Amino acid sequence: MSDNLDSLDVANGIPKSLMPRSADSEVILACGGKSTRMGQNKLLVPICGKPCILRSCEAFDKIDEVRRIIVAAPKELWREYSEILSPLRTPVTFVDAGATRQESVMNGVEEAKEEIIMIHDGARPLISRRTILDSIADTIKYGSSVVCVPCKDTIRYDDGCKAYSPDRKSLYAVQTPQSFSRRLYLYAAHMADSDYTDDAQLLDSAGFKPHITIGEYANIKLTTPEDIIMANSLSGSGMRIGHGYDVHRLVEGRRFILGGVEINYQRGLLGHSDADVLTHALMDSLLGAAALGDIGKLFPDNDPEYEGANSIRLLERVAKLLAEKGYSILNCDITVIAQAPKLSPHIGSMRQRLSAAMGIPVERVSVKATTEEGLGFTGQKEGIAAHAVSLICG
Ligand code: MG
Repeated sequence: MSDNLDSLDVANGIPKSLMPRSADSEVILACGGKSTRMGQNKLLVPICGKPCILRSCEAFDKIDEVRRIIVAAPKELWREYSEILSPLRTPVTFVDAGATRQESVMNGVEEAKEEIIMIHDGARPLISRRTILDSIADTIKYGSSVVCVPCKDTIRYDDGCKAYSPDRKSLYAVQTPQSFSRRLYLYAAHMADSDYTDDAQLLDSAGFKPHITIGEYANIKLTTPEDIIMANSLSGSGMRIGHGYDVHRLVEGRRFILGGVEINYQRGLLGHSDADVLTHALMDSLLGAAALGDIGKLFPDNDPEYEGANSIRLLERVAKLLAEKGYSILNCDITVIAQAPKLSPHIGSMRQRLSAAMGIPVERVSVKATTEEGLGFTGQKEGIAAHAVSLICG
């Protein structure tokens, strides 16, 4: 520790001049992540009917000591995020995201003016009022508060040379907020080596021991798609399933379009739109899961707007409608019943088109094809049928 600080005036290892003088706090919301493991911008994913980024701010918004929320996000998202955060009563300021999380946080710290800074992940929507208040109280007492939970799992270390299981009693999983006296943080940033990866490490590196505040296991971070299911169930909502079924007649002189892919075949499906029977069944399953009616109600077949319509565009509209109502699409499974043509070479392209239209990873969209062994109208090649089931949550 530098000797330009009064070493006699130290509380809990921190010079008193670096301790907070009040509980006045600012939140620095880290929103610069790329969501690569999620396959979509996780901050926009609805959790219990509201976008994740709004949920991550709501508990802070209701605490008087929190004076401002500083959002560190890429500039191109400022407008969208600012509209989403408009219901908050706490003032919101935007700063640019950096190339790393630490750069983003530092941009926020430079903007901050209050006694305490609380660094929180934009993708941690279940933070509770209790944990925030505990973190502020500990920061006043100890100068820092890193919210952690004791590890429930046994951790195995193995770097190829050395392997062991560290004692679980001294292991913690780090969450956010990580709260600090602003002056202490700036001092530590000045003193620390540059290669730290999180805020607690920054204090370690400057020779301070950050205080651990025990948080809650429910305060999860959205990282992979299953976290969306967990976050929705933990916040009290549930999953909903929907089924869709459709049939179109095969006729001469029509293009054959299935799952958004045009297939070379001597006949095509008859209908008011492009008659993409697979995409129609899928849309009905999504609308059914949300109890929002069916595509006949949404896109009436006597409306000239939908004559020859590209069903993939309609699917995009259905996905948007579900998002507006607060639902996330988890997965879909579609079975096409057709005697001919052979569909297996086209399944991959169909899955790509459908997943892109719904904004979900392709691994969450299944398309299968079967025949009915020459039986019935599909077996006689009079028409093609499709069944779809979809799971949504919100
Ligand atoms: Mg149809």
